[in-house]
Amino acid sequence: MTTRNDCLSRDAHDPLAPLRDQFDLPTGVIYLDGNSLGARPKAALSRAQDVIAREWGKDLIRSWNTAGWFDLPRRLGDRLAPLVGAGDGEIVVTDTTSLNLFKALAAAVHLQAQNAKRCTRRVIVTERSNFPTDIYMAQGLSSWLDLGYTVKLVDSVEELPAAIDGDTAVLMLTHVNYRTGYQHDMADVTALAHRRGAVVVWDLAHSAGAVPVDLNGADADFAVGCTYKYLNGGPGAPAFIWVPKKHQEAFTQPLSGWWGHAAPFAMAPDFTPATGIGRALCGTQPIVSLAMVECGLDVHCQTSMDAIRQKSLALTDLFIELVETRCGGHPLGLVTPREHARRGSQVSFTHPHGYAVMCALIARGVIGDYREPEIMRFGFTPLYTSYTEVWDAVEILKQILDSEEYDVAAERGAVT
Ligand SMILES: *Cc1c(COP(=O)(O)O)cnc(C)c1O
Repeated sequence: MTTRNDCLSRDAHDPLAPLRDQFDLPTGVIYLDGNSLGARPKAALSRAQDVIAREWGKDLIRSWNTAGWFDLPRRLGDRLAPLVGAGDGEIVVTDTTSLNLFKALAAAVHLQAQNAKRCTRRVIVTERSNFPTDIYMAQGLSSWLDLGYTVKLVDSVEELPAAIDGDTAVLMLTHVNYRTGYQHDMADVTALAHRRGAVVVWDLAHSAGAVPVDLNGADADFAVGCTYKYLNGGPGAPAFIWVPKKHQEAFTQPLSGWWGHAAPFAMAPDFTPATGIGRALCGTQPIVSLAMVECGLDVHCQTSMDAIRQKSLALTDLFIELVETRCGGHPLGLVTPREHARRGSQVSFTHPHGYAVMCALIARGVIGDYREPEIMRFGFTPLYTSYTEVWDAVEILKQILDSEEYDVAAERGAVT
């Protein structure tokens, strides 16, 4: 069995270990929630100071040009692109994941209708276990279009292939499931959907910066993702949308705001979409927040997704091994796939008192989170999580479970 000394030695030989110093993490905290809100890169503080004091404070409106504010969604998109297998000019960092999904879904429905000779495909297929906002946005778009579109919820990965049929307009999936950590085979699923005539939209909220993704290699159609999780962009940082070169000319979305116009400052009364990825933009961006995204990307650029993946699998393997060996007598159920290819960068265990146990963990400085039903979720961010922290977190979990030091009547906060 792995000992704490083994973990110390693995940390000493970990090529990513020096990157932790670029994050500001409070002492006494083992942070296993980077899949929900990434930790703060130290550089974000001075960057925020500069954006607010100099760019906004001194240069005022000139900063739209002089500080490159207007160009920021495209520039950050190009920096993010290599992490998800996208090309230059294929991503903008903008708006929220929910909003970008709306645009991507609308574009996908439109593309399908254009491609099909007679548009009889009216179903958007997704998983019942998808993150709720993804389902809600699909439902919102479908009912709003009022053209007979419906959302079909599939109950298991096994049932997915049969659910993609001649009625399917769009397959919308989240690559790594937020609750279980299950990772789809993007290339396989995309190929299957294409064979059946569906357009495919991927949500990379739990993938970008966490697992290697090859959007162009998988021949996907559209994608969206989040920057405040594994990309460490800060709370509510703008999300991203990917439109590959092959679809850019046909790409059209209903939120046709002035930032997506070919000549925004011509102030023309009619909308003419920008050429390229610019047409995925809508309106003015929260520049202070957007600027923080670059600090997270700066850290990612110092390593590779392969190195991150290797350590991520080692951390999650270690956590599973230690929980199962050290907390074996307790009613814990592993929800996350053991198979590496099917696993994201998190591990989820059920426990009948999952919420109370998670509250006790957080009170002792081990920060994970809780998702219904009964799921304790632990995210592993190879940029700043050490092997020894994994060992220590399991030790604290073991103490809490052995002593039953958790309050089953714990009150729920507004955010779990
Ligand atoms: C985190 C997450 C979101 C978040 O959407 P917001 O618009 O940023 O609130 C959406 N989808 C999935 C799958 C997520 O994991």
